[in-house]
Amino acid sequence: MHLTKEQEAKFKKLGISSVIELALQVPHSYEDYRIHEKLLPQKAQLIDATIESVYKAPNSIQITFFAHNLGHTVQGVLFRPKPYMLHQFQVGARDYYYGIIDCKQGHCSMSMPKKVSKAGAIVPKYKTALRSDVMQRLVQNCLTRENLLVEKLSEDVVAELLKLHFPNDEFLQGKEMSEKTLWALKYAELFSYMKMLAGKRRYFKALSSQAKEYAPWSRTLPFTLTDAQIKAIEDIRQDMHKDVAAKRMVVGDVGSGKTMVILAAAYMNMPNRSVLMAPTTILANQLFEEAHKYLPRAKIALVTNKTKKTDLSQYDFIIGTHALLYRELPQASLIMVDEQHRFGTAQRNMLEKLVAQQELKPHFIQFSATPIPRTQAMIESAHIDVSLITTTPFSKDIDSKVIHKNDFKSLLLHVKAEIAKNNQVLLVYPLVEQSEAFDYQSIDEARGYWEKNFGNVYVTHGKDKDKERVLLDFREYGDILIATTVVEVGISLPRLSTVVIVGAERLGLSTLHQLRGRVSRTGLKGYCYLYTNKSKSERLDEFIYTKSGFDIANLDLKFRKSGDLLKGISQSGSQFKWVDFAEDENIVKEVKKDLGI
Ligand code: ADP
Ligand code: MG
Repeated sequence: MHLTKEQEAKFKKLGISSVIELALQVPHSYEDYRIHEKLLPQKAQLIDATIESVYKAPNSIQITFFAHNLGHTVQGVLFRPKPYMLHQFQVGARDYYYGIIDCKQGHCSMSMPKKVSKAGAIVPKYKTALRSDVMQRLVQNCLTRENLLVEKLSEDVVAELLKLHFPNDEFLQGKEMSEKTLWALKYAELFSYMKMLAGKRRYFKALSSQAKEYAPWSRTLPFTLTDAQIKAIEDIRQDMHKDVAAKRMVVGDVGSGKTMVILAAAYMNMPNRSVLMAPTTILANQLFEEAHKYLPRAKIALVTNKTKKTDLSQYDFIIGTHALLYRELPQASLIMVDEQHRFGTAQRNMLEKLVAQQELKPHFIQFSATPIPRTQAMIESAHIDVSLITTTPFSKDIDSKVIHKNDFKSLLLHVKAEIAKNNQVLLVYPLVEQSEAFDYQSIDEARGYWEKNFGNVYVTHGKDKDKERVLLDFREYGDILIATTVVEVGISLPRLSTVVIVGAERLGLSTLHQLRGRVSRTGLKGYCYLYTNKSKSERLDEFIYTKSGFDIANLDLKFRKSGDLLKGISQSGSQFKWVDFAEDENIVKEVKKDLGI
């Protein structure tokens, strides 16, 4: 549809770009400016009234109306009137006034009557960036049946959406939104979002359209790949055969074996070049070592800000940190990003551009250790292909347990016993510095105790500039690591058997799951202790029995509305107002089908 310049500016102010999004700006209430001849109990209504008298008291104004439509006197009261109100109420004037009328023993009153210029309509009230009447006019001009149908919404959905903005009597009678209307809102919200995502996807010709068989390589491995790994590798193999550059996200729990998928992709891409970016030096090193071990024939380069600049064009597989972005990179037909959520979109795109050749692009595969609910994966698939690795190669043996203050003694015994076995313990505290408003110790308060009673205690946190070195030292020499939740993702600590999370109820389940995922990386018997002051938390109780990150993501949805979490911790990161990931899988399916994606 065509918008005028003025309307365009208003759309911008609302932060929307289509009439569907306009339709999703649902009124928060309605004012019925029709003239009724009867009293509407407990509902605001309009009177067509002549003012008989006005009496000004110090803090209020009393107005006597004669309401012609009701044939009755109504006593109006304005408390703490604003100066402009005085002029709105003149003796002898006949106008429309709006408010709730309360009648007792034949005496009717209306508190805070509001003067209304036009009668006859039901007026929706909006709380948006625009003034309600400006918004109303915009809706009247733009939100038409035709304009919504042009967007390819169905007649049914359009009818429901229009009812919200142009309500009839029947609609107003309903106390709650009907199932049908709610369904239409969810549908429209998903439709609009997924259409936008699909529209954003650009297709480019690929630099390479071949993939070697991976079977000869997988036979050389000391273990068999899991079905989930094979499925992801197959997805990538099919991508690489296409002459359109791939865009794929591989999502799998910590420990689900994503590195093998990365290596398989690099193998299949040979003799063409691949580039892999990882968020930290430790992780880049680790990937480099694994690549060496499992791809003995490949020429592999490591690029971090500590490595010397060399001519990278002699290598098949270039592995590095974001330092890659500042090097001269040779052309590569496959780009991979590990732990992709630790990079910004700009960084990821920059890497792709560096190795592209004009309109020819590399295949682009990202890896994420943050399991997402299935519904969300389906939504994301509108602009990126998704492979889910939902199983792990070996099931970890981790005991999870909620503990309280009076369990501290036995916790100490456990920590001592683990250290005696040459295992390591991670203690996660909620804060670095002391805070009055907080009923848990901070790192600064707690570290003294541990340092006094134990040897080889290491401390680090998110803002610590030395954190990579501390982690490496801890890996070699440490017994206890004290940290905040921002300890490195992905780094392998083979001797870590126990994690204690202080103030666990404050954290999202996926964060707890990430932390738990650090222990028992190499099959060691693991322990995860959730320390809380709360006597009972259903959320933590369920967490203990839930092992898969994908189940955790769904569990997080279930508890999203519970008051268990402190405000400000993002839980599901949903950008939707109406759609509920936990319940609306069928609507997502329907929208996908209707959009043909
Ligand atoms: P992720 O990157 O998904 O967190 P990794 O790739 O680091 O997980 O794998 C975790 C561990 O599992 C590594 O020690 C790896 O060697 C091992 N591993 C991977 N795939 C298999 C498999 N199919 N069978 C047995 N062990 C595996
Ligand atoms: Mg990994």
